[in-house]
Amino acid sequence: MKFEDQRRSMVEDHIKRRGIETEKVLNAMLKVERHMFVPEDLRHLAYRDSPLSIGQGQTISQPYMVAIMVDLLQLNPQDKVLEIGTGSGYQTAILAELSQSVYTVERIEILARNAKEILEELDYNNIYFKIGDGTEGWEGGYPPCKEFDKIIVSAAAPDVPGSLLNQLADGGILVIPTGSRYFQDLIVVEKRKDKFITTNHGGCAFVPLIGKQGWDN
Ligand code: SAM
Repeated sequence: MKFEDQRRSMVEDHIKRRGIETEKVLNAMLKVERHMFVPEDLRHLAYRDSPLSIGQGQTISQPYMVAIMVDLLQLNPQDKVLEIGTGSGYQTAILAELSQSVYTVERIEILARNAKEILEELDYNNIYFKIGDGTEGWEGGYPPCKEFDKIIVSAAAPDVPGSLLNQLADGGILVIPTGSRYFQDLIVVEKRKDKFITTNHGGCAFVPLIGKQGWDN
């Protein structure tokens, strides 16, 4: 089957059928070519609903997990989005399709460089990259940005890092897996004035968020 047909099946069978209905999210998942973000020898598996190795002990996220997390963000075209854990850059591309700009942080240099290369090759021009500890958010990143409408963390934290709450705009939404190093809950935090409203969206399993406000190495 052609990649395009495989992508359509992935969206129909694993994303739509499991309850994601937001048209623009489904369209972005239909558009972004996941096979471009996985190592060549795994491309034949690119449209399975599973994480895949991208080297350095890290993974490209499962498509359904990307869809549910992006859906929970309730993205608007004018949103500035902070993403922690660029990984392959696949989810970054989905976010870039649905928002004004994406500020993405990755701690592993080679992954960040590979993701930047492919995203530039695909002509995305609304993405800013930072290599470093994303538990501190966009601190020290370029261009400077103090507040984000939406924040998405695609690695597992013991707790929600305080720096990320500080960088969330009023009315903003943060999506993050928190829990133990191996199993977590998908948590949504909404900031309303000075209050944080937290909801739990079920179990998940992510690689650990390593850093000052995450897990030790
Ligand atoms: N969503 C990504 C994709 O579509 O390819 C996959 C992200 S992968 C599950 C998690 C990533 O978070 C890894 O690349 C890992 O190196 C990164 N990471 C872990 N701790 C981090 C930190 N403190 N700051 C930035 N990135 C971090």
